[in-house]
Amino acid sequence: MIKFDKVFKKYPNEMDVLQDINLEISSGELVFVTGPSGAGKSTLLKLMSAVEKPTNGSIIFENTNLSELRNKDMPFLRRKFGMIFQDHKLLYDRNCFENVVLPLEINDISPTDSARRVRAALNKVGLLSKEKVNPITLSGGEQQRLAIARAIVSRPSILIADEPTGNLDKGYADEIMNIFYSFQQVGVTVIVSCHELPQSPIKFKQIHLIKGQISNSDKYVPLLS
Ligand code: ADP
Repeated sequence: MIKFDKVFKKYPNEMDVLQDINLEISSGELVFVTGPSGAGKSTLLKLMSAVEKPTNGSIIFENTNLSELRNKDMPFLRRKFGMIFQDHKLLYDRNCFENVVLPLEINDISPTDSARRVRAALNKVGLLSKEKVNPITLSGGEQQRLAIARAIVSRPSILIADEPTGNLDKGYADEIMNIFYSFQQVGVTVIVSCHELPQSPIKFKQIHLIKGQISNSDKYVPLLS
């Protein structure tokens, strides 16, 4: 469903940040993008979600060449992606419910339907009882779970998370990873970048980047016993 063919990315006034990236991700896969800081993980995720365009090469997502995408087709495409970042970009002048409902406000969904979907998303991440609370009062782990609820409320087919556990203690980080595993189990494609490989209980693919190049193309890692 996502295929990179000889992809290069260079930012203005920079060297190549990604070089000759070839990869394929199938629908429903769990993928970890690993590598040290500056290796290009974030840039790779931005290319996958059409936030950035490649300098060279092609990125095909479900039969669409992302480099040829017209701006007017962007919003339709973006709806298929749920994005989660390390600094979760929550709004502290809104409560939890209002943060999660945001992506639905731009869609044509009735208030009853959107309230139902927001509560289902909050329930999924264990925050239903906090819907009226301001997110600033939540722990770091809870804030990241809230960001996940906001990312899944529009029912994306792909979840892309850029170092979602980077700022969290291990216990909270494990909770977040368990939520991602549960989405993969119901058919969502889950792509997560992290410094180090987590102890995943389910089969995954690892894309390890070093200095903008894949050092282990398409390695499948078997189930942990
Ligand atoms: P990682 O996520 O592995 O830390 P990044 O993709 O964030 O790596 O960054 C890879 C390289 O690209 C770094 O050298 C970084 O400084 C550079 N870079 C990232 N984003 C930009 C940008 N918007 N403009 C210029 N350089 C950038």
